[in-house]
Amino acid sequence: AKADGKNRWADYDADRNAREVARFTLSARMPAAVESEEFYVDYQPIVRLSDNKLVGVEALVRWAHPEFGRLGPDQFIGLAEETGLIVPIGRWVLREAAGQARRWRDTYGASAPRVSVNLAARQIEEPTLVADVRTILAAADIPAGAIQLELTESAIMETTGKPLSTLHGLADLGVRIAIDDFGTGYSNLAYLRHLPVHAIKLAGSFMEGLRGIPAADPADSQIVTSLVSLAHVLGLEVIAEGVEEPQQADRLGAIGCDSAQGWLYAKPGPPEDVERWLDPA
Ligand code: C2E
Ligand code: CA
Ligand code: CA
Repeated sequence: AKADGKNRWADYDADRNAREVARFTLSARMPAAVESEEFYVDYQPIVRLSDNKLVGVEALVRWAHPEFGRLGPDQFIGLAEETGLIVPIGRWVLREAAGQARRWRDTYGASAPRVSVNLAARQIEEPTLVADVRTILAAADIPAGAIQLELTESAIMETTGKPLSTLHGLADLGVRIAIDDFGTGYSNLAYLRHLPVHAIKLAGSFMEGLRGIPAADPADSQIVTSLVSLAHVLGLEVIAEGVEEPQQADRLGAIGCDSAQGWLYAKPGPPEDVERWLDPA
């Protein structure tokens, strides 16, 4: 048993070493990757529950690494936040998403989906964020309302400096602001009253309890019901994330949740996949 334990330690050390090497290799390549456009954006539909119409998409960044292949954000966003490279990467994602919003508006007019983009804490700390967003909107020639910015409550709390004035600056431009992963971490609806927020995205972790008939977890179902009604009292739109089953969508619709996103509708994919949901104007 002792030898066993020792081996496990060796394995652990080796794993940790491999992880360190991978982290180092990835972060070393990242600045060049920003320059050489190895990043790309997939889009995932957000669907209105009352009529199953596409109302938005979420832009999700990916990295086509020349050596490691396609990497998901969970494999590099944390690292990019630590090194600060999330700032240029995030700006690139926003510019890319705004360009896509422009192309969809050209083809589909007013029924073009709103494009939702994730913002990291480090981006909220950037003194030029509001000006950058304004410039990007102008360059793409889209109304600010065509873009929604997703921030987690923990990103807002972690932000040093003046997150509130930044949020107000963004909201004053006319972009929509959504609280991402709502229900995890510090989530607090009462506190949101004091923020310029338009929507909450209910964390996928609630959806587990909404599976099946009757609901797998009646308490989760009750919590979601309460959150949706309280959010509506506060004038917030509610988007459910991680919806995988028709029963979850039915239950969310019955509860009055506004829209939903998840594999039930579509996985994230290239813009062409999204266009199957749309009729040319
Ligand atoms: P998120 O913002 O919560 O994005 C939703 C994640 O859930 C996506 O993972 C999406 O592919 C996944 N998902 C969608 N539908 C389902 C479903 O039905 N079931 C399950 N189990 N998962 C589903 P992805 O693309 O791997 O992104 C992971 C996270 O990386 C995102 O979580 C977001 O926090 C971050 N991220 C992605 N793109 C960006 C970006 O451009 N900037 C920043 N700062 N973060 C990003
Ligand atoms: Ca998000
Ligand atoms: Ca989320």
